[in-house]
Amino acid sequence: MRSGRATMLSAALLLIGCSSVGDERAASVPAVNATNVQTYAKSVLNSLQPPSFAEGREFCGYIFVDESGSLAHTVARGTVDFCDYNAAPATTVASYHTHGNFAEGYDSEIPSVDDLSGSVEIGFDDYLGTPGGRFWINGANGVSRLICGQGCLKSDPNYRPDLLLPVDNQYTLGDLRNL
Ligand SMILES: [Zn+2]
Repeated sequence: MRSGRATMLSAALLLIGCSSVGDERAASVPAVNATNVQTYAKSVLNSLQPPSFAEGREFCGYIFVDESGSLAHTVARGTVDFCDYNAAPATTVASYHTHGNFAEGYDSEIPSVDDLSGSVEIGFDDYLGTPGGRFWINGANGVSRLICGQGCLKSDPNYRPDLLLPVDNQYTLGDLRNL
């Protein structure tokens, strides 16, 4: 579900290039508090959960620091199981995506292999909201961790927990590949 993040790679490499030469652009990216980013991501996901359920599509985007030093975000509309993040702002600090609506047969309550491998490749954490309202962080450190469980975010009215396999609180890339 994350092949759209391929476009983010060049932007991330650009950022790495900037910081390695210590130019003004990299130096101007303010330090952001991880707790603030997580709180911001939760509110963005909650605002996109209802249209995600109603339209049966993923939404995705970047969280970045705007010119005034505040957190802001981009929004892209995806399809039932894919979302193209488009270009990343230079001051991106994280990304996010939803998993659309609840559909039997889709393992949408846990991150996909591409979700986590994308975060590792790009070097940004990605926040994920599921139809059951689970709030995940796909860490650039290679671990997907459940921040809070079922019902933590707005949930799809059609969500059916009885149709799901058990969901763990944490997955490595190896864990996800072996599911
Ligand atoms: Zn995903």
